[in-house]
Amino acid sequence: MLVLKFGGTSVGSVENFRKVAEIVRNTRGDKIVVLSAMSGVTNTLVQITDLLEQGQSENALELINGLNQKYLDVARELLDSDEAYYKAQVVLKKHHQTLLTMTSEEFNSDQEKIVLAQGELVSTNLFQLYLEDIEEDSVLLSALDFMSIDKHGEPKTQVIRERLGKILSNYQSSIFITQGFICRNANLQIDNLKRGGSDYSASLIGAAVGAEQIQIWTDIDGMHNNDPRYVDSTFSVSEMSFAEAAELAYFGAKILHPQSIIPAQENNIPVLLLNTFKPDSKGTLIHNKASVRKIRAIAAKDNITAIKIKSYRMLMAYGFLKKVFEVFEAHKTSIDMITTSEVAVSLTIDNTEKLDVITNDLQGFGNIEVDTDLSIICIAGDIAQNKKGITSAIFEGLKDVPIRMISYGGSNYNLSFLVKTSDKIAVLNLLNESLFPELAAAHA
Ligand code: ASP
Repeated sequence: MLVLKFGGTSVGSVENFRKVAEIVRNTRGDKIVVLSAMSGVTNTLVQITDLLEQGQSENALELINGLNQKYLDVARELLDSDEAYYKAQVVLKKHHQTLLTMTSEEFNSDQEKIVLAQGELVSTNLFQLYLEDIEEDSVLLSALDFMSIDKHGEPKTQVIRERLGKILSNYQSSIFITQGFICRNANLQIDNLKRGGSDYSASLIGAAVGAEQIQIWTDIDGMHNNDPRYVDSTFSVSEMSFAEAAELAYFGAKILHPQSIIPAQENNIPVLLLNTFKPDSKGTLIHNKASVRKIRAIAAKDNITAIKIKSYRMLMAYGFLKKVFEVFEAHKTSIDMITTSEVAVSLTIDNTEKLDVITNDLQGFGNIEVDTDLSIICIAGDIAQNKKGITSAIFEGLKDVPIRMISYGGSNYNLSFLVKTSDKIAVLNLLNESLFPELAAAHA
């Protein structure tokens, strides 16, 4: 069994729905197709929930009707036969009605989850009707029948495996379609795996069925060695290890949801990143047999804030760091990078919602300094095994760039450092030249 997940852009228009169907048809063997909502739809649904929460039901209604019209237009163009279009109208009416009832009721967080689930429910329905229209057999499965999370929001992998296994055994088909992102929570209410969660769904489904491979189809050809938005000559990396992919996904490589790697990695299922708009390009294979490479790729993460706590009470004292960490724990703010000296500790956060209370609570520990507008540059590769010369190779080219923090040795696959965001583009370009000699050779 293969799992093929298509993101929002891949199902963002009639033309793209057709491309996805073509890819699904051309992929041999049994497969489960996991779809996101059409691009932009989840954002619109979030807007709708915001408006409903603020009691602005008139404005919410306008967005709901706009969305319904967009779906009807897509369905009319996508589906040739009147029969398929009629079925689509019935489905769309049901979803429209679900949203409309929200405008006249007291709005709460349970309803918010129901609203957010509509995007994936509609895209999968439309896709299934399209396959039916082009006479391709398929079965639409509701993720709400098997995708389940516990009271901490963690997936119940055993339950997912059992339920999905049972459901699949009821059908004879080589194409199953289901929704990414949505699930049921411990109270059996509709819930979700958080924004961007469809990759996670695909990985959980892959793990549940013991898939041969999980394919994540997006709009770029795999993970690049550097950020193509800021660096001209990047290339798609043909393979990488799970550990490298996890570092890159967390530190800014937008192509993959960081959490999504875990179920695939734990079950040793290769993940192939592919481009819906260039289906023939090789993409990036993430697996545990990736060849060892000193420097695999670079990614950058913006909107980083550094907090320095300077205190002579830290000198030779134990328990100091514990107390500092407790402040972050109390305010549910995760720390990305950390460096220490005998008299100071610097750490970074990307969620500044609680920054004021955090700094206030930290005052008792010493002098606090806060720096904003910083970026973490993450270099992933098999860095530990090749320690000799690695750091000088990285920093040699950055002589003129002020570096605020360096984190090295935390994992074998990552070296990260912190720079001002205004230096980020220059740093990414300098590293591209110094760390990827194959690029220089290709340009010679
Ligand atoms: N539709 C959801 C979102 O936009 C989930 C996903 O596409 O991964 O966050």
